[in-house]
Amino acid sequence: MLIQIPKNSLDTYEQIREMTAAFAREQVRPQAERLDREEEFPVEIFKQMAGLGLFGITTEEKFGGAGVDCYGYAIIMEELSRGYSAVADQCGLVELICTLLSRYGSDEQKALYLRRITAFDLRVAYCLTEAEAGSDLAGLKTTAVKTGSGWSLTGSKLWINNAPFADIGLVLARTDPEQGHRGMSVFIVDLHGKGVTRGPKEHKMGQRASQVGPLFFDHVQLPEDALLGEMNRGFYMIMSVLEKGRVGIGALALGIAQAGLDAALDYAKTRKQFGSHIAEFQGVQWMLAQMAMEICAARGLVHKAAIMLDNDTPATGACSMAKCFASDVAVRQTAEAVQIFGGSGYIQGYEVERLYRDAKITQIYEGTNQIQRTIIARQLLR
Ligand SMILES: Cc1cc2nc3c(=O)[nH]c(=O)nc-3n(C[C@H](O)[C@H](O)[C@H](O)COP(=O)(O)OP(=O)(O)OC[C@H]3O[C@@H](n4cnc5c(N)ncnc54)[C@H](O)[C@@H]3O)c2cc1C
Repeated sequence: MLIQIPKNSLDTYEQIREMTAAFAREQVRPQAERLDREEEFPVEIFKQMAGLGLFGITTEEKFGGAGVDCYGYAIIMEELSRGYSAVADQCGLVELICTLLSRYGSDEQKALYLRRITAFDLRVAYCLTEAEAGSDLAGLKTTAVKTGSGWSLTGSKLWINNAPFADIGLVLARTDPEQGHRGMSVFIVDLHGKGVTRGPKEHKMGQRASQVGPLFFDHVQLPEDALLGEMNRGFYMIMSVLEKGRVGIGALALGIAQAGLDAALDYAKTRKQFGSHIAEFQGVQWMLAQMAMEICAARGLVHKAAIMLDNDTPATGACSMAKCFASDVAVRQTAEAVQIFGGSGYIQGYEVERLYRDAKITQIYEGTNQIQRTIIARQLLR
């Protein structure tokens, strides 16, 4: 399908955009430099976001979500990220967890967790990656063994967002070691339970307000109802939500790139050299024009993929294109923004210096861009 039509009126999306942009501009962006410098997890901002319905954006309203579609989600992620991408990152993480619970949870699990997660009363972690299993999740070693009363979970996870303080984690573990990715299941794990330990938080290049660390599970006893969805279907459940995750990261990358363009435009109009504003030099104008073109193209891909998901159109390739292209644009164009700032752009405390660092991770998490290109090629060659 060449043309994809959004499900709601354009006015609805514009209202969503304006509300989120105002929040990001007034409450988030002014704090971004300090949050990055102090590596502070912005609890107060997240409480405000919960009040505005910015957690569980596509989750049904009866579970405390906003009931918005994926196109609306993409708009929200871009605008939040334009304020500060580490804040949007938390929104994306909650979105993934709520989507998994909404899609695969029992009525009891939905009732127990969704409202508390969307209210930001429960902090969540999405636990896939291990030391030997990054891009290749089929190599993971964490195992859940059946016991008389439930499961015994043993293993470790690496670089898990929110690990230093999360209350619950959705953990992908082997339940049938002989079956590769056909032998994995997802468990809802109480991270305050016996046998769970946390390592120290990592110090990252960018998005430094989000907190990442390892989790260790030593014969953690899980009740029967800790299993999410069907046994041995965990790998497929995780893959089924990653498409929305990739639209989210594409939109987040777009917000970083747009913030870089915003800053570069302001600077070019005020910085004077050779007696003129640097915006008057054709060399700088062409850099700004290229930034704007690439950002527009990335937005087109992100919005198209989001609307395809909303219309239930097969969107695997489109979601990978959106994530891969938008994150490459974010890295390339924040580098250009640094260049337009000259030496100032290389100095800590200038927004573009942080944006350049923040952009890099978008090419790595939610599936590296090499993996996205592999997915796109596989779709082409089918
Ligand atoms: C800040 C941060 C936050 C994160 N948050 C989470 C989280 O909340 N939960 C979670 O589970 N994980 C999380 N991760 C982990 C992240 O998803 C992984 O780092 C990512 O999937 C890549 O895995 P890896 O680092 O092991 O790289 P590897 O898979 O070892 O890849 C190394 C390099 O080889 C390339 N490569 C690998 N396989 C192929 C292939 N088949 N073809 C071509 N190239 C290939 C990759 O593209 C990459 O360039 C986070 C990581 C970071 C840094």
